[in-house]
Amino acid sequence: MAQEDVFKKLVSHCKEYGFVFPSSEIYDGLGAVYDYGQMGVELKNNIKQYWWQSMVLLHENIVGIDSAIFMHPTIWKASGHVDAFNDPLIDNRDSKKRYRADVLIEDQIAKYDEKINKEVAKAAKRFGDAFDEAQFRSTNPRVLEHQAKRDALHERYSQAMNAGPDLDGLRQIILDEEIVCPISGTKNWTEVRQFNLMFSTEMGSTADGAMKIYLRPETAQGIFVNYLNVQKTGRMKIPFGIAQIGKAFRNEIVARQFIFRMREFEQMEMQFFVKPGTELEWFQKWKEIRLKWHKALGFGDDHYRYHDHEKLAHYANAATDIEFLMPFGFKEVEGIHSRTNFDLSQHEKFSGKNIKYFDPETNESYTPYVIETSIGVDRMFLSIMSASYCEEQLENGESRVVLKLPAALAPVKLAVMPLVKKDGLPEKAREIIDELKFHFHCQYDEKDSIGKRYRRQDAIGTPYCVTVDHQTLEDNCVTLRNRDTMQQERVPIAELNNIIADRVSITSVLKTLQ
Ligand code: ATP
Repeated sequence: MAQEDVFKKLVSHCKEYGFVFPSSEIYDGLGAVYDYGQMGVELKNNIKQYWWQSMVLLHENIVGIDSAIFMHPTIWKASGHVDAFNDPLIDNRDSKKRYRADVLIEDQIAKYDEKINKEVAKAAKRFGDAFDEAQFRSTNPRVLEHQAKRDALHERYSQAMNAGPDLDGLRQIILDEEIVCPISGTKNWTEVRQFNLMFSTEMGSTADGAMKIYLRPETAQGIFVNYLNVQKTGRMKIPFGIAQIGKAFRNEIVARQFIFRMREFEQMEMQFFVKPGTELEWFQKWKEIRLKWHKALGFGDDHYRYHDHEKLAHYANAATDIEFLMPFGFKEVEGIHSRTNFDLSQHEKFSGKNIKYFDPETNESYTPYVIETSIGVDRMFLSIMSASYCEEQLENGESRVVLKLPAALAPVKLAVMPLVKKDGLPEKAREIIDELKFHFHCQYDEKDSIGKRYRRQDAIGTPYCVTVDHQTLEDNCVTLRNRDTMQQERVPIAELNNIIADRVSITSVLKTLQ
């Protein structure tokens, strides 16, 4: 199946089974805003728990906070967001649609890549085993022509972005490449303008006393402005980290690809404060720790790659993304940045407060350097859903849709089903749930045939199902079915908790990180 079709199916699956709904749907929705349903919220909470525990439980020098969404507006001046948190936008006069100029150009670069890949795929098919891809790429005239155009475009684009960005330069590239609006099909473009991504509102009841404030576009600044509070009250010694999970808001110009790019989303960020001069060593460590955290979910190492940034933000001295293979290619899920002492120094300057660290071992004061790990909960959710979604052909000719979610993250861990709705079987099933519900999330289901009930649980990713039959009333044993292998085994009720609890707990995944 084409990856685009897989993605469409995934989006409708998310809706059909209560994972993700478009926000305000009965009013036709609100662009790039989504709600999580009864299954989605469980998965999302489990993701957050996995992250939080890996940070705060496994590292004795990392603590958490929960700072407010509203913050003093000067914070965003100090952080650079008021002046520089912009995207270059361009409108098409005919369709009245708005685009990010940089994204239009990046899509054009991707088109050249696609053309090259098509040539390679065609040749690979033609030559079979004898195909030498490297040689083909370096000698085939059509490939070379596309490659030269692509490289020239990439170079021009990088120059324009690095020069401010150079807005006229970006527009000229769009005109020269004859990029058309996908809706109107025309090249009738406006000038390119800078667009600030922060949402603003007013705080205060009187018109003249009201203050313009922003909805935070990242959670990190809440950590920076609390750095001293936490360091002092927690008697933290460098190196130490502060973790936070919370909502962030960005007025994205082009919001596409479902929950990949939203206007209201959630971040899990950790700022790790270190001694100046040690930051690159810590950056390397955190790169490795974070990749291990992702890989521990078991989707396979080929689903991940690092993307080191060539162009660094002015305050950073190293940055990388962890990318995940989504149905629409490798995409950033997490950023790891070495942010120097930029943020703390800026807050020191703008607030006039001393926020230096006094090192009792060396008797010196300094502004700590910071390594940041920043991951979007929603993107993580999307990556997990897309890697878990499978359509399987069964031996009996039927097919099933199954979400092969890591058991530790699955919304429901165990479904308990009486074979029939009579003869005391429902009561026995309820008894099992009443015992196990304290340990993990269970669901009771008595409607329809057992086969249909299994399919429903497969579709929401429940790793285990238990069937209670007449024999159960005699021997206190049940049939335990495994979601992935579909194998069934007969087990005593008294052992269910022992068998399942460990396999579905977040703790079991956390242990692999040590
Ligand atoms: P992008 O280049 O995709 O816009 P970014 O580099 O601006 O992302 P960061 O500012 O580094 O992203 O934010 C850290 C993480 O927050 C990202 O890796 C991503 O997982 C998440 N994130 C950022 N913007 C959004 C958004 N609009 N919707 C959902 N998640 C987001």
